[in-house]
Amino acid sequence: MTRILLIEDDPHIADVVAFLMEEDGHRVDRATDGRLGWELFQKNRYALVILDLGLPGMHGWEVLENIRDLQPGQALILLTAQGEEPDRVKGLTLGADDYIAKPFSNAELKARVRNLLRRVPPRPEVRVHGPIRLRPESGEVTVNGGELLLPPHEFRLLDRLMSHLGQVFTREQLLERMYGEEVDITDRAVDQAVKRLRKKIQKRAPEFDGIETVYGQGYRLRSL
Ligand code: CA
Repeated sequence: MTRILLIEDDPHIADVVAFLMEEDGHRVDRATDGRLGWELFQKNRYALVILDLGLPGMHGWEVLENIRDLQPGQALILLTAQGEEPDRVKGLTLGADDYIAKPFSNAELKARVRNLLRRVPPRPEVRVHGPIRLRPESGEVTVNGGELLLPPHEFRLLDRLMSHLGQVFTREQLLERMYGEEVDITDRAVDQAVKRLRKKIQKRAPEFDGIETVYGQGYRLRSL
């Protein structure tokens, strides 16, 4: 979940922005004045700050400059009042990534936030299960800290099981995940891959027996 800091004193606008962001799956911390917003920013890490300019406590410009001093790379969108063209230029000059003029359309706000968040590199995802750590993007797997070298189909098998703990997959489902639509591979390839995977994991974590055979159904990774 992406954490967003919203600094906006108009409760109606703040409600709308928070609602739209939460609808997109983000978590929103709200501040109704500049000083409180600045305090929250210093305490937490945010993927994005949405900042109004006309704020009590501390003006938006000051908040923006403070944020830039502390975190030069912070993604930030300014909310500007209608017709404040010079302010927009100043905002972009001071290092806001984007601005949205009020009144804004809901779709525009969402689209601009999505665009900006796409440019901000996300923290790499790590799946952790007992002694196993798996990074879906880089293809790295470690067991008790030692690297496990897996061929791609075994990696995809493990990734599938780890991303859906407790869920039973049939051999057909796993096979498709491992090899795509290749037709000349039989279900037995899944059994063999599971066997090899268990052995490789147990070499570094002898007590680990999380990959379960579910009789008549398939395989699952047991929840801890
Ligand atoms: Ca305001």
